[in-house]
Amino acid sequence: MIAVYVWLFCLTHGVGQTPVQNKIEDQHVPLAPNFIHLDGYLDDYIRLSINRWNKGDLPYDTFVDFFRNGRPQFALGEMWGKAVRSGCMFYRYTQDPDLKKILETTVNDMLSTQRPDGCISCSEPEKQPDGPNGDLWERKYVMLGMEEYYEWVNPHPSILASLIKQADCIMRQVGKAPKAEITDLGWSATNIGYEPCHIESSSLLEPFMRLYKWTGEQRYLDFATYIIESGGTKHYNIFEMALNNVEPYKMAGHYPKAYEMLSIFEGLVEYYRVTAKPEIKQMLLNLYNNVRKYEITITGNGGSDQPYHPRVAGEAWGNTALEQTNPDITRMMETCVGVTWMKFCSQMVRLTGDPSAIDEIEKYVYNGLIGAMKPTGDGFSYVNLLNGRKVTNEGWGWKFDDMHVTCCNLNGPMGLAYIPYVAVMNSKEGPILNLYNQGKIDFLTPKNRSAKIDIKTDYPISGDIRIDLDLKKAEKFTLKVRIPEWSKRTTLKVNDKTIAVIPGTYAEIDRRWRSGDKITLSLDMRCRVIEAPRGSNRAGDHFQAVIRGPVVLSRDENMDENYNQPVSLKSDDGYIEAVQENPVSKDIKLQFSLPLENGKSIIMIDYGSVNNWDNNMHICTWLPLPLKKPTH
Ligand SMILES: [Zn+2]
Repeated sequence: MIAVYVWLFCLTHGVGQTPVQNKIEDQHVPLAPNFIHLDGYLDDYIRLSINRWNKGDLPYDTFVDFFRNGRPQFALGEMWGKAVRSGCMFYRYTQDPDLKKILETTVNDMLSTQRPDGCISCSEPEKQPDGPNGDLWERKYVMLGMEEYYEWVNPHPSILASLIKQADCIMRQVGKAPKAEITDLGWSATNIGYEPCHIESSSLLEPFMRLYKWTGEQRYLDFATYIIESGGTKHYNIFEMALNNVEPYKMAGHYPKAYEMLSIFEGLVEYYRVTAKPEIKQMLLNLYNNVRKYEITITGNGGSDQPYHPRVAGEAWGNTALEQTNPDITRMMETCVGVTWMKFCSQMVRLTGDPSAIDEIEKYVYNGLIGAMKPTGDGFSYVNLLNGRKVTNEGWGWKFDDMHVTCCNLNGPMGLAYIPYVAVMNSKEGPILNLYNQGKIDFLTPKNRSAKIDIKTDYPISGDIRIDLDLKKAEKFTLKVRIPEWSKRTTLKVNDKTIAVIPGTYAEIDRRWRSGDKITLSLDMRCRVIEAPRGSNRAGDHFQAVIRGPVVLSRDENMDENYNQPVSLKSDDGYIEAVQENPVSKDIKLQFSLPLENGKSIIMIDYGSVNNWDNNMHICTWLPLPLKKPTH
């Protein structure tokens, strides 16, 4: 009798499965929850977002009601999962009991909408799987929200049991004929009057892989393999295209939607960890390298409307690294894209230990991400411009009373939640310092002793960082210190002994560490003048940008009506002698005076601090140079 009860319990609670061991071990591993406590610069943005967004006025109840009563617009069912997953990642960082309560309440509310066949869907059963309304995309986000909750907030067996029922319901409806094929389901790109692409549905790869890892149930891995074999879109095989090194803006033909594509490749990383297939790794490396090379702009995000995909509203890859000064661009760098790129980069650094992925994350965090955030903390810009009106809330979304919620408002906080997740990592050899925000870190040494790192700095106000170690017992291990690619003159010392470093690599300090050991790092904070890439229609124009450390500087119309007028910067060998000033307002983090060739100077501030929200003001990040007079 007891055995029957145990069996029934296991059946209803989803326990008893055997987790899958990865075949590929990560090089770098995130620290355990609550092991890192940042303060200052980046933490201020994190706290503001938690308080004003995840613990603020978010209409969690209405998000759940879409699953009870249907939704008034396609894909709105995504909102719940996105709100919950950033909340769970923030909880991983803060362990805040009030946030936990909010998450618990809404997860239980959502569980109560599960239908008898196991699905949690905004579409009536007779309409499922409901392609044009984005049913699969929405169900994916319910799964991701609950998976994040199960992993970081409360590993209650009822959550896993619900996930299993949701996944099994999807598998009864989606698959090889006579079921509905996954590439036949979705809204993209018929929503803009194009041939179907349906790229978003294949992002089910990630929640299925996470479920497979927890349960060991072969059917979930088989479904993941089915998704990959289906090619990711209706007409183009994006996995083969990645393997063949196709530039991202040419992938998926007319609709290389950047955010959805990156989401699929996040799932592909999980697939690689358990299958160890070398061609999968090659696809991941190629996409990573090609997005870096062809898409990412100076503020760390990518995608644009012009000149290649004008109808995809700035949300498709657009050869954007090259086109970023194109004056025809009206929308570019969707916040959903930047955040998903950041998450994909975190997967790549875990997998490969390649510090370039952290260079990418740092570039996005200090510029694109915080630059998209409302100063009030309750939202993020949809798309983001380098020149013109920096931010906008215009785009897909829904109004809840007077709160306009978009996909990007919902994804921005997830980017912030990933900062502590990647800032310091660990490995079998020892800890890895990735980002240099001030903070206190706990970690386990290779001999499994608890130890502490204390980072003291005002970075990126200055480039001076001091790191103190607190160990229970002296121990030999390797501590890795990331030397950013941009830091050409770096001083790294351990207890006053200088260590030679190479930009764009980790300095690997292998020694017998003792408590009280001190590391000092001084990064190259000279202002760099960057020449603009020549895009498709700028033969005569010329632009320059100024970057200091990780921070891109901009001219701000709020401070200077001549903000977009041509200037000749007085630079020497790619550097300019900028004078750091006290910001004119407390809302500005960094302010500089930069000399011009004519003896005058201009003021530039960090891109993140420029406020174009509730005014009609503009930004100028790529500075036009005066047109050269003809010499003949
Ligand atoms: Zn978005």
